[in-house]
Parts: sequence; C-alpha cells; structure tokens
Amino acid sequence: MSVFIDSAAAGGEHANALRDVLSPTAEIFYPNSTEFNSLSARWSTLAQPKVNVAVVPFSDDDVVKIVQYAKKAKLPILAYNGAHGAITTLGRMQGGIEIYLGRLSSVVVAPDGRTATIGGGISSKAVIDALWSTGKQTVTGTCECVSVLGPGLGGGHGWLQGHYGLVADQFVSMNVVLADGTLQTVDTNSDLWWAMKGAGQNFGIVTSLTSKIYDIKHYDWAIETLIFSGDKVEAVYQAANDYLSPVPVNLINWSYWLNIPSADPDKPVILFYLIQEGTTAVNSVYTKPFHDIGPISIEAESGDYRDLARWTQVALDSAPCQKTGLANPRFPAYIKEYNVSAQRLEYDIFAAEASGNSPFSASIFMFEAYPVQGVQAVESDSTAFAFRSDNILTAPLITYTPTGHELDQQAAALGKKLRGIIHEGSGSEELHAYVNYAFGDESPRNWYGCEQWRQDRLKALKQKYDPEGRFSFFGPILQGV
Ligand SMILES: Cc1cc2nc3c(=O)[nH]c(=O)nc-3n(C[C@H](O)[C@H](O)[C@H](O)COP(=O)(O)OP(=O)(O)OC[C@H]3O[C@@H](n4cnc5c(N)ncnc54)[C@H](O)[C@@H]3O)c2cc1C
Repeated sequence: MSVFIDSAAAGGEHANALRDVLSPTAEIFYPNSTEFNSLSARWSTLAQPKVNVAVVPFSDDDVVKIVQYAKKAKLPILAYNGAHGAITTLGRMQGGIEIYLGRLSSVVVAPDGRTATIGGGISSKAVIDALWSTGKQTVTGTCECVSVLGPGLGGGHGWLQGHYGLVADQFVSMNVVLADGTLQTVDTNSDLWWAMKGAGQNFGIVTSLTSKIYDIKHYDWAIETLIFSGDKVEAVYQAANDYLSPVPVNLINWSYWLNIPSADPDKPVILFYLIQEGTTAVNSVYTKPFHDIGPISIEAESGDYRDLARWTQVALDSAPCQKTGLANPRFPAYIKEYNVSAQRLEYDIFAAEASGNSPFSASIFMFEAYPVQGVQAVESDSTAFAFRSDNILTAPLITYTPTGHELDQQAAALGKKLRGIIHEGSGSEELHAYVNYAFGDESPRNWYGCEQWRQDRLKALKQKYDPEGRFSFFGPILQGV
C-alpha cells in the first residue's frame, strides 16, 4: 500500500521530482506558504485530509504526470476542487499530493450551441456566468463556490433539475485520468459511464467535461422569503405536503431552521423560501397557504437566474463560501414528503441543543425540495445515482468551532439523533444518504443504493479500474481500501 509522506522535507523531495515532469506553467506549493495554506483550506475542518504538497496542473497532461508519479512513488493523491467536500472518509488521507484543479477552468460552447466543454476544476459561478453571456444555461449546483464536477460526480442537485435532471444527467462525455495513469475519454460507450454519474469520485480525475446546455427560456425569477417562529412547524410542513408535494417544475422550496436572534431571540426560526421561474412575483397559489399561517416576516424580490445564489445565501460572498476553520458535518436523509410529527420532534431537539449558548448555535437544519420531474424522467437504473424517487433532501448541518474529540462526538451524536428521527419518520427501511452531503459513517449501500446489483456493479468496476484503491477517500465503494 501507499507510503505516506510524513514530513515537509519529504514533500519537497517529491515536489522536486514532479517539477521535472510537469509543464512549465504548473505550480507546486509547500506547506506553510501562503499559497499552500490557501489552496489546501477546506470548508469543513472535521476529519479533513492532510497533504504535504499542493500541485497545480494547467493541462490534462500535467494531471496524467502527477497521477503516474504518485502511482510509481506509492503516494496518495486527492483532487481538490471547491474543497467543500466534507465527508469524514476524506480524513483517511494522512499525507500525500493535493491536485488542485482550479486552473482547469475553461468554457467552450460548441458551434451547434447544444453542448459546452468545461474544465474539470471550474466553479458553478464561472459556468453560469460564461453560459449566460451566450444566452445559455445548464444544471449546476446552486452554490457559487462549489465546483461543477464535485456535485456532478455524486449526482448534483440544482435549480434547473426540474427541467433537465441532475448535473450528472447533463454529462455527454468526459476526459478522465484513471488510476493506471492513462487519460481516457469516457462516454456512453464505456462501462465506466454509468458509475461516473453518481459514484464518479471513486474512479479518476475528470480534467474536462462536455455537458448538455440549453437556451435560456425564462429570464425572470422571483422569490418570497418567509420567516416563521418554531411554533408553526406543524402548520408549515403540513402546508408544504398539501400544496408543494411534489414541487411544481418551475418552483423550488427550501427551508432552513436556524437562529436569527432579531426574529426570535430564544429559538430557531423557519426560514422558508419559495422561488419561482418565469415570473416577477411568486404566484399567490403557492404563497397564500403560507401567508395564512402567519409568518413573522415576508420579503419578496425579483431578478434573474444569477440572483438565486445571493437570495438563498450561497453566493461567493455568503457565509457558506468562506473557509473559516469551522467544523461542518452534515447528516443527510432523502425523504418523499414531510412527516409532520417527526418535524416537531426534530425541531424541539434542534432548538434545545443548538440555541442560546450551545457550541452548535450556528447550525442549520436544511430541507431542500427541488422539483424532481427532470430527475425522475431519467431511468433509475441508468446511473449510479440511486435515489431518483425521493423528493426532498434533508440534513442537519452541525456547525461549530472545533475544540477536540469530545465536541466532535457531541456534534455527531446530535446530527445522528436528528437524522434518525427523519429516517424513522420517512418509513423507508434503508437510509438514503446523498453522498455529497454524507457525514462519513454511512455504508456504501446508504450512498449508492441498497440494491445488490448496484453494489455488485460498482465493486466490479472498482476492481477493474482502480484495484489499488487510488481514488478511495471520498465515499469509498470498497470500505477499508
Ligand atoms: C455551501 C454548500 C452548497 C452546496 N450546494 C450544493 C448544491 O446546490 N447541489 C449539490 O448537489 N451539492 C451541493 N453541495 C454539496 C457538494 O456537492 C459537495 O460538498 C461536493 O463534494 C463539493 O464539491 P467541491 O468541488 O466543492 O469539493 P471538493 O472537496 O474539492 O471535491 C469533492 C470530492 O470530489 C472530488 N472531485 C472534485 N472534482 C473532481 C474532478 N474534476 N474529478 C474527480 N474528482 C473530483 C474530490 O477529490 C473530492 O473527493 C453544497 C455544499 C456546500 C458546502
């Protein structure tokens, strides 16, 4: 197995050897430099990977050379993109080479306007802006600082999924550096294609992707942001079941439970977003049932697609895009609809354990109801993403300033307790845990689907394409590799 680099000096030795094989523009940064610290900082510091050198490729061939070198030298490697991956299995990397993909960030729209080829390290924001300027758009993650491939390789939820499906459903072909150090074009003709759409982090490094793109159909978007006090939990989620289940194709409904002292000084509030496409004001058919419940406040805005991230606090300058040394474990569970009494139980525990002076008072309980029509139009068995029949992505995000093992344990216990109630209330036997939000203690069945054929297919592909487990830090298909 891999020999870990365990000192800066050894890191330097390997960096020198790499320098000789990389292109002149490629960069190598050593620990304790400003660049290294910046390129290796992560959104969540819990169980984060440790690297001894950060290498910045500028071409596919640079990535090939790094993977080949690491294989020969038996060094662990990990692609860093938006560095918002927070699954604790990443912490199994305890030394090795970071491959920072941020310079692979081109966008080229094909002459026929039906696809675009984008760099493997591009952010959602860069793709959204580049396509918008040509009258096009595609499905990306919602958060501006998250990459396209990070979400996409695990499925990828986005604003436009009601029309077009998941981020992964847009894939047309990709260039991938595989574990054997070869660069391959993977598309529908490859047996690996199925796996790249849901479990792709396990199989290689995508240096570029050709994605479907679409003409912008609707320039107008509108949002209503409502804030409810916690005593309205039953009314709000019953109304969500009654009026928004499933969410119409042109609507998105997210809600967050969080502490906003100006709205309620003692307990978390329900921040409730109704977002509608193709209009300058959210239709009263959707808003009235919620107005009738009696929110603390209602705020309406309108703009275009590019405003959505700012409205929902996932823009480049929003808090979730900053890397400030916080631990940010999430505990996801997909559900089909809200179990209102379970919501009450979760709220009461969340309010008791994540308010006031609690170290977890910056936590957020997330409920993301995206439209699913485009997702469910794709055959369930056609991709490794396994949870197309679910409607709502839920996850407590337990945010805290890390102080050591004891607090980590408390955070995990709280997150698991809350998720346990959601899962039990869902009536689903198996926990469906979105791998991109996963905590890390779930099993491959929870991440990639409990059907035996899914597990067998993934394992067989892993044995074929990555028998040494070079790409096994993020949600590993084979545990213990
Ligand atoms: C604030 C916030 C908002 C989010 N919003 C959404 C959302 O709207 N929709 C959604 O589906 N998810 C969302 N997520 C979850 C997101 O999908 C995951 O956190 C994802 O892992 C982040 O990707 P990244 O590139 O930022 O992180 P990274 O940690 O850099 O990458 C995550 C994993 O993917 C691998 N990887 C990244 N790029 C490549 C590549 N080119 N080739 C091979 N492997 C690669 C990395 O090695 C790593 O193992 C969000 C997360 C956060 C924190």
